[in-house]
Amino acid sequence: MPPFCLSTESWASENHCFKPQKGVAAAPSCQRFSWDEIVSMSFAEVLDALPLSRSPLIRKFADLLAPQPDLQLERMAQMSRALTYQNFGHTMRLFAPLYLSNECINNCQYCGFSRDNPILRVTLGVEEVKAEARHLARAGFRQVLLVAGEHPKFAGRDYLADCVRALAPDFSSIAIEVGPMSTEDYLPVVEAGADGLVVYQETYDRGLYGELHTAGPKRDFNWRLDCAERGYKAGFKRLGIGALFGLAPWQQDAIALAAHVEYLFKRCWQAQISISLPRLRPAAGEFRPRFSMTDRELGQLVCAFRITFPQVNLVLSTRERALLRDALIPLGVTMISAGSHTEPGGYTGRGSENVHRTVRGKIVAPDFQDGEDRLATGQFEISDERSPAEMASFLRENGFDPVWKDWDQALAPA
Ligand code: SF4
Repeated sequence: MPPFCLSTESWASENHCFKPQKGVAAAPSCQRFSWDEIVSMSFAEVLDALPLSRSPLIRKFADLLAPQPDLQLERMAQMSRALTYQNFGHTMRLFAPLYLSNECINNCQYCGFSRDNPILRVTLGVEEVKAEARHLARAGFRQVLLVAGEHPKFAGRDYLADCVRALAPDFSSIAIEVGPMSTEDYLPVVEAGADGLVVYQETYDRGLYGELHTAGPKRDFNWRLDCAERGYKAGFKRLGIGALFGLAPWQQDAIALAAHVEYLFKRCWQAQISISLPRLRPAAGEFRPRFSMTDRELGQLVCAFRITFPQVNLVLSTRERALLRDALIPLGVTMISAGSHTEPGGYTGRGSENVHRTVRGKIVAPDFQDGEDRLATGQFEISDERSPAEMASFLRENGFDPVWKDWDQALAPA
């Protein structure tokens, strides 16, 4: 039976999000391993076995990624829209990234913040972070994603906890997207008020990962892979994972990402899982995507994730251009950013007096020309430049309810 003919119920019935039960003999979603084996396996083991052993759910997901004629793609889109409506109504959560620091000790060939890129860098002080956050709050945001390069000296545990604590009174949901840390290091950040942890594996292909990450602690593939579980143990209630499309063949990374989602549903069953599907954007360093992913393929991927995981949040950022975002939003997306800046201080210009240039990790005297902006360099170029208000208007005009504030925390028991 072709995948588009399967009923919603048959897909949804395999999208289990439940507590692991020890002693149950056969896992409903696994071909080769017993249930006890699965719950004791790391995702690294699951990933390495993936070419030979895929669960029924992941096999169906993979079928959905095969090239489809227009009619079948339209059927996938209809199913995806219906499932999104069933599970999320017409709500669309809006969030904004707030870049704290673009210092980084890693060399990731595709990233503007790579250590060896001679870019303008800064780490905002806590008061500067508060100023940036006030700007976002005035625009309506109550959900913020704090982003920083990986640099324990500038953006370590205590600094992150201080930033979160300073923003907690004004934001209902604070997530962090920083270098992977240990459970012990996450604890004070959670205690300060952060509820979300976002970490993309970038690519699930170990060989390519090794080629693309040439220096720094990020070279440790498995440490990154297990990050969501360490965060869950520390108390994060929202876990965001993703792949950066353009580094590896997109179907390959999508299947591994889907397997990761399935795994986290079992291991971190109390967390809300979100999936991001970013494609590479131009950035300092001029890295070019190694593999293409067309707009049509991205749309198909959104539908495939929604059909396979009806309750998962799907995130679409301003990396994609406005017209494409407008087309993808009704298909299955549930969280979007708007009016984003990817440079620290980008919303208010705060921190400009401390902006400096680094060359191969060493600070050199700034070399600004007269009249030149003293802003730090952004991580990548955004594509949809609409303001938050414009984005909210678009959503309302198209029947969506923009959600600026997540009420989960207010309703959660103390
Ligand atoms: S992707 Fe992250 S770790 Fe890599 S250079 Fe960019 S900021 Fe640093």
